[in-house]
Amino acid sequence: MSGDQASEATLARQREHMVREQLERRGISDPRVLDAMRTVPRHYFIPAEYVAAAYEDSPQPIGFGQTISQPFVVASMTEHLRLTPQSRVLEVGTGSAYQTAILAEVADEVFTIEVVPDLAARAKAILDSLDYSNVRYKVGDGALGWPDEAPFDGIIVTAAAATIPELLIQQLGVGGRMIIPVRSDDPESQDLVLLTRTPEDVRREALYPVRFVPLRSPQ
Ligand code: SAH
Repeated sequence: MSGDQASEATLARQREHMVREQLERRGISDPRVLDAMRTVPRHYFIPAEYVAAAYEDSPQPIGFGQTISQPFVVASMTEHLRLTPQSRVLEVGTGSAYQTAILAEVADEVFTIEVVPDLAARAKAILDSLDYSNVRYKVGDGALGWPDEAPFDGIIVTAAAATIPELLIQQLGVGGRMIIPVRSDDPESQDLVLLTRTPEDVRREALYPVRFVPLRSPQ
């Protein structure tokens, strides 16, 4: 066995361990989300110097002052969207594209927006190399959404907003769910908020505190 194969085997074992210890033990139960987390090689989305930490229970730096979210947060946010193989989902904050790959495993189509052009280019390159053909990419301000492709069954925002962007709420279809970190009184963390659109109104539920980098305006 070559060194590369040995480390791939080690990383695969670490991934399985991550799914059992960090996800299943903490209550992630949607089999399609668990399958996606077992399938997507998280270490491909992480800069070489941090690969040994790819399956740790924490976020990791990805460059440009941004981070790849902790595995539990990726799985939990995905599970809350209740996506099906027919779902069309909008993601704001492509970043490393790891969350994008998880969405691409569980939904029909993923529309992802990133404000940093270099991150968007890197994201497309890695997802193309892994043969994800159901992802569309846009560079720009994700707070504006993707009106031409709306309505969406799910919207996931992976950067912290001061308030929930009205344009995103408008692009959520009836029965759709949006998950977004929203600034709270605590300057150190945000509330992870779940919005559900019913035929009559939009329901809002705060889930648990999270720490995301802020949503920024395009430079
Ligand atoms: N889901 C990503 C999270 C990356 S961090 C991952 O797990 O890798 C948040 C990302 O949101 C960063 O890449 C940042 O550049 C991007 N971002 C910040 N403000 C944005 C905006 N207004 N529109 C789109 N993307 C934005």
